[in-house]
Amino acid sequence: KGYWRFFKLAVSVDKDPGKDFLDVSLALLEQVAKVLEFPVASMLPPEAFTVLRKSFDARKSQKEPKFVYTVELDVDKLLNMEPRTWDFISRLEPKIGLIEHTPHERVVGDLVNIIHDNKKSNSDGLLGENGHCSSSSSYKLPVTKTPKVAVVGSGPAGLFAALVLAEFGVDVTLIERGQPVEKRGRDIGALVVRKILQAESNFCFGEGGAGTWSDGKLVTRIGRNSGSVLSVMKTLVRFGAPESILIDGKPHLGTDRLIPLLRNFRQHLQDLGVNIRFGTRVDDLIVENGHVVGVNVSDSSGSSQFNSEKLGFDAVVLAVGHSARDVYQMLLSHNMELIPKDFAVGLRVEHPQELINTIQYSKLANEVRNGRGKVPVADYKVVEYVQGDGNNVPFTSQRSCYSFCMCPGGQVVVTSINPSELCINGMSFSRRASKWANAALAVTVSPKDFSALNFHGPLAGVEFQREFEQRAATMGGGNFVVPVQTVQDFMNNKLSGVKAANLHELFPVHITQALQHSISTFDQELPGFISNNALLHGVETRTSSPVQIPRNPDTFESTSLGGLYPVGEGAGYAGGIVSAAVDGMYAGFALAKRLDLYEDDI
Ligand code: FAD
Repeated sequence: KGYWRFFKLAVSVDKDPGKDFLDVSLALLEQVAKVLEFPVASMLPPEAFTVLRKSFDARKSQKEPKFVYTVELDVDKLLNMEPRTWDFISRLEPKIGLIEHTPHERVVGDLVNIIHDNKKSNSDGLLGENGHCSSSSSYKLPVTKTPKVAVVGSGPAGLFAALVLAEFGVDVTLIERGQPVEKRGRDIGALVVRKILQAESNFCFGEGGAGTWSDGKLVTRIGRNSGSVLSVMKTLVRFGAPESILIDGKPHLGTDRLIPLLRNFRQHLQDLGVNIRFGTRVDDLIVENGHVVGVNVSDSSGSSQFNSEKLGFDAVVLAVGHSARDVYQMLLSHNMELIPKDFAVGLRVEHPQELINTIQYSKLANEVRNGRGKVPVADYKVVEYVQGDGNNVPFTSQRSCYSFCMCPGGQVVVTSINPSELCINGMSFSRRASKWANAALAVTVSPKDFSALNFHGPLAGVEFQREFEQRAATMGGGNFVVPVQTVQDFMNNKLSGVKAANLHELFPVHITQALQHSISTFDQELPGFISNNALLHGVETRTSSPVQIPRNPDTFESTSLGGLYPVGEGAGYAGGIVSAAVDGMYAGFALAKRLDLYEDDI
């Protein structure tokens, strides 16, 4: 019987074997031997140790920043060593603790393998830890011989839903209003360099969704070690992500890696027979007797290849993200229930990366070497809770102000889809080599804030976002010029000389004061955060969806319209690349189950 035991290994920067950590090298084995008090490192069989996680711990409470490895030890493999080491193993037990462990996570493969192994067979519940796939409904959709499903949107949610369905043999049409990554890249280039915005091909719309020209952070709050997250990560590796994302404490891809990955994903879907229609926008749902039976689409490529078309489907997965405000409006025209939800708004702060490296690592900052060194380009995460009458302003409820979507070595990008609205976000390339670090500083807002500005109804949150996006566009003076202010001047309610913008007047006073109050506490945690070299940019509004589309938690079907499966961030069930992919994946399984394509839970 195999035993797996885990132990943590703290390795100082000078002793760290560097990027080769995936293989347990002799350098790492030496550190292992030290922790285990084993006299001769070279006698330890490398195959007995597997690195499960590598993180960089630069917390101020540490004497010095160090790498922390979580190492798994396979005792069976140690027992193959010569008998005198057995005694050593028995001495190990009190030291590292014995965990009898079914290595569940090691068994979870990528989605393609999982589905191959489980089609129409009994499975052992590999992915079912959330219970999402355990649909108890006995109702089966009235389907044609090969079920036809439209997946609307090729962001992470749509791609993973399409993958699962296509692997189960569904006739999938993936409909995307934007362009494939090759053409989209050129459109984004024109926006960045020449300020020419293509309304249907930009930072939000196009192959890969909003996360393509992004930092490609793959951190998630939905459980890093869950089978579902691991299988999404392994699927990304299948399509070209580096294996280190499976181990890295803070995995990230960067735009340059995402683009080829998406091409491979596309090729795989096409090999499965998925009909991918870029430049095609879903304008309306075709509804019969309370059931969606198809979609109306039109040409959004600008090439007028067709005007509009009606397409029939057995079911429609709606994975349109939260920038498709026209889709929310269209859903309301079908009397669908949409619920306004809390989200967060704020500003994006940009510091010289060197400053952040120095704040976080002190002397070790020069080990960063523009992303080529041993230690990762420094990031930060800060949060402050503001309650009661923080800074003399009566807050009706507790708010938090937190850093969000931090992009070390990245750039601030304009993510508007309409010239009269200005919103921003951050992206980076895999090496994170730019001289700038940026992060959103966002304050939570709720429907109470929307109604305080006279925005009511299901899309009140969208109107609230739009209000500040329009104010920011006006402050910037148009042509996608981003209004900026130094952090120092924002704190002092003074105009900066850069692009004269008084961002402290952008938001209602309680949001501005929550930001000011929080920034002053962030400066205590990260001395130097308030600086004339740090710029605030307006405006960060699309932190997560302002709307939720209610759905049945088991079947994922909309509670308002049969045959419609709202998924991902736009439906209010995800906030980030990984959680959107997981939601799309579960929706794919739930729908495949309703289509009677497999029997048991996977
Ligand atoms: P989306 O990715 O928004 O995809 C929706 C797709 O639907 C789009 O491609 C859109 O064109 C298409 N669509 C919309 N309407 C229609 C229609 N009517 N017809 C046809 N197609 C339609 N998250 C992270 O986890 N890590 C990061 O580092 C990160 N960085 C980001 C950087 C930027 C610049 C941006 C904008 C976002 C970033 N995010 C990041 C957030 C992340 O991208 C989203 O959470 C995620 O992409 C949501 O996935 P989704 O599939 O639900 O929707």
